Amino acid sequence: MKIKLWGVRGSIPTPLSSDSVRYKIKKALALASPDDIASEESVERFIDNLPFSLRGTYGGNTASLELITESGEIFIVDCGSGLRALGMELAKGDFGRGRGAASILLTHTHWDHIQGIPFFLPFFIKGNSFKIYSPFGDCRERIEYQQVFTHFPVNLDCMLATKEFITLERDSELYVRGVRIANKGMRHPGGSFGYRIEENGRAFIYTSDCEFNMEEMHDIDRYGSFFNNADAVVFDTQYTFDEFFNKIDWGHSPASIAIDIAARFKVKRLILFHHDPDYDDEKLDEVLSNAKAYMGINMREGGAPQLDIAYEGMVIDL
Ligand SMILES: [Zn+2]
Ligand SMILES: [Zn+2]
Repeated sequence: MKIKLWGVRGSIPTPLSSDSVRYKIKKALALASPDDIASEESVERFIDNLPFSLRGTYGGNTASLELITESGEIFIVDCGSGLRALGMELAKGDFGRGRGAASILLTHTHWDHIQGIPFFLPFFIKGNSFKIYSPFGDCRERIEYQQVFTHFPVNLDCMLATKEFITLERDSELYVRGVRIANKGMRHPGGSFGYRIEENGRAFIYTSDCEFNMEEMHDIDRYGSFFNNADAVVFDTQYTFDEFFNKIDWGHSPASIAIDIAARFKVKRLILFHHDPDYDDEKLDEVLSNAKAYMGINMREGGAPQLDIAYEGMVIDL
């Protein structure tokens, strides 16, 4: 399966500011030597060697992922503002002609996980068909509420694609054409669910938003069958460890706890996700390097997962 990240930010979309762009240019220029800018080739090489925060951006769109199975089945996981660009991409193919079909998995209905829906082009096109899964029995009402006339000029029913809402049993599993999808309730205000998606012996896990505080960690083995031996886990790590202690019950986790869980359950690759809107690109570079330092101090070689931080456009090939 192949997973593409279209939105990686938590809470609220955070576009890059003009000041940030200027700062990046200034810092990059300060690092350049005359040789670095002697030819187009050397410029490309110079850019490639800059820290990610200077040559690009982690992205400001809120949570949305696209997963395509080996059999060609499309899953959309969460519908934050990143869904808008995904919709435009899908509309270039079958979804633009009203012949598209996909499954949508929702973790919960906080704004940052549904706010892309009113701008999702394939929903406007008659003939497209979507199955929307979540463990919330009133999911349709929640999504409709986002688009009542006082909040948005087009209500959900006026979006002409077929939209079937399916309520999953909590902590259950579902099979869609040979793909196993297990959901797991997570600690988060109002409730949230993680998804484990398995195909041909490969397992991908998406768990945003989730708070693994001391109480959850004390009883962490009850999450064993959910996390065990996953090939890749996209994990909510909105806070630093210090912030985490000041934000108990806010519903998110720090990278160090995600690393502990990944190592305990032999996860092969961990991707830090749901970045705090207050964190700029440089801070996110620092989040990754601090997480790597934590792993270096606390884990034996071979026992640690591969560690990455999510950015918009990232592709995970499993
Ligand atoms: Zn969120
Ligand atoms: Zn949330």
